[in-house]
Amino acid sequence: MEHVTADLVVVGAGAAGLLAAAAARRLGDEVIIVESSRRAGGTATEGNGLAWLPGNRLAAKGSAPDSTEEVEQYLASVLGEPGDEQLAARRAAFVRTAPKVSRWLVSSHVPLHAAKTIGDDHLDLPGAKTGGRVVQSGPIDRRVLGETEAALVRTSGVVREALSWLPLPRNTATGGESLVAHLLHRAVANGVSLWLESTITSLITDSDRVTGVTVDRDGVPTQITAGRVLLASGGFAADQALREEYLPLPTDATWTTAAAGNHGELLKLATGIGAATTNLSAAWWMPVMISEGRASSVRTALDGPHSMLVDAAGDRYIDETRSDDDLGQLMYDHSRGVRAVPSFLIMDNRHRASTPLGPWAPGSTPRRAIEDGEITRANTLNDLAQATGLDRAGLLGSVVRFNNFAAKGTDSDFHRGRPEATGKAKRRNPSLGKIDKPPFWAVKVYPGDAGTKGGLVTDASARVLRADGSTIGGLYACPGTAASIFATGSPSVGASLGESLVAAFLAVTDQRS
Ligand SMILES: Cc1cc2nc3c(=O)[nH]c(=O)nc-3n(C[C@H](O)[C@H](O)[C@H](O)COP(=O)(O)OP(=O)(O)OC[C@H]3O[C@@H](n4cnc5c(N)ncnc54)[C@H](O)[C@@H]3O)c2cc1C
Repeated sequence: MEHVTADLVVVGAGAAGLLAAAAARRLGDEVIIVESSRRAGGTATEGNGLAWLPGNRLAAKGSAPDSTEEVEQYLASVLGEPGDEQLAARRAAFVRTAPKVSRWLVSSHVPLHAAKTIGDDHLDLPGAKTGGRVVQSGPIDRRVLGETEAALVRTSGVVREALSWLPLPRNTATGGESLVAHLLHRAVANGVSLWLESTITSLITDSDRVTGVTVDRDGVPTQITAGRVLLASGGFAADQALREEYLPLPTDATWTTAAAGNHGELLKLATGIGAATTNLSAAWWMPVMISEGRASSVRTALDGPHSMLVDAAGDRYIDETRSDDDLGQLMYDHSRGVRAVPSFLIMDNRHRASTPLGPWAPGSTPRRAIEDGEITRANTLNDLAQATGLDRAGLLGSVVRFNNFAAKGTDSDFHRGRPEATGKAKRRNPSLGKIDKPPFWAVKVYPGDAGTKGGLVTDASARVLRADGSTIGGLYACPGTAASIFATGSPSVGASLGESLVAAFLAVTDQRS
């Protein structure tokens, strides 16, 4: 067996792992990243890289500054009071550290800006903000990263397809891909070792602490002895057996948009040495459709006018513009009474002509997709009900009722678009439009996810804990592998990436001063 030493081993080269590696290297550590797939980048490359880092100071000058008190107040109102001291301490650490992470990213030359128009998910709750808390990396030309690093960053599948109709230069990395490209560049250029296609085979322990890992590196068994090991390897969203064991049913590994490498191996290895787990039935829900065996978010389609979501009885049951996390959870909740997994997104032709749907640009629906039954088209709502198996009377009744709401500009059943909460009550509701222009379309919507939410129990410094509350020395974990602090809800778009980055930073800076 080969034998090497390092100060820090990071398992997983996603956004969190790369940030941890770059930050530790900046503090002088020898760092090795062990990544099981062929390329670095992880799940962030599939998304737009929005990270909720409340309290950051990036919002435009002149806007009211965010405060710790407001963030704490908002989190308490979204999530309720923390059930135990450990969770309270983790939340406090998140609030305290999020602004530091945004400063660290800026000082590491990530072109970060605050998304002024993206507000918190629950604008009606105290402490909420209408913009500025979510940050995003600006686009970069991959060529400036140099050939090696640019080649290592995985091109963004879902997002790139969804944006393929936008005039983006071919070499431009945007969103999550841009963020990980920057972090990767910073890490590798400063001397972090990146081991791709390498798999962790065990966590090495000595009495009560982790002292390293064994790795299958290109078929060569290698032992790394390290002062600390950080698990930033995501959750178990890609593993069908673990999904069936823990997530609500029905569930399917094809419904996830998380990185294909998220098989929960490190969760199993860590529990094997005594780590505790929590909240394993939760996920970052994301309503998806399936095309060519792959899940794509239908968020933009759900928000667009001239569309509505119905259950198998043809009934609406929700404000379609609710957050992804709420919507996925409610699909399961509603399914206890009537089949709502899958639900159906019903659209008229104006919607299909003007709004992206999953991987398809406005106005373009592949003939193959219609033939394969990925989407159904019909000239009348009657025929649409027949072709999809939806209850005919239910669907027709729901459309008539919905069209009446659209004519009035108010959805009296579910308050679509939440105009009261967003302060737009007096304006025309842009999310409401009649469904009356044929042909009509229907696509199945599943409660997919952007990753699992439960995992290892950690403390405020991201250290992994046993069931008795003691720490497993030397072992740290980021959300994904660790349980999220947002156990019972989601405060905002970007919460998942935001907390992963913060935990990575906490793990690296633990006990430095
Ligand atoms: C379509 C989409 C859109 C999203 N949009 C947003 C958003 O706007 N805001 C937000 O907050 N979040 C978003 N998310 C979620 C967000 O991208 C993730 O929370 C974040 O990227 C997680 O980063 P991570 O580094 O913790 O884990 P990951 O990115 O999952 O990285 C884990 C890495 O570990 C590797 N790995 C796994 N097992 C092993 C092993 N045994 N050994 C070695 N390596 C291993 C994996 O291959 C992977 O590279 C989105 C997700 C998707 C799919």
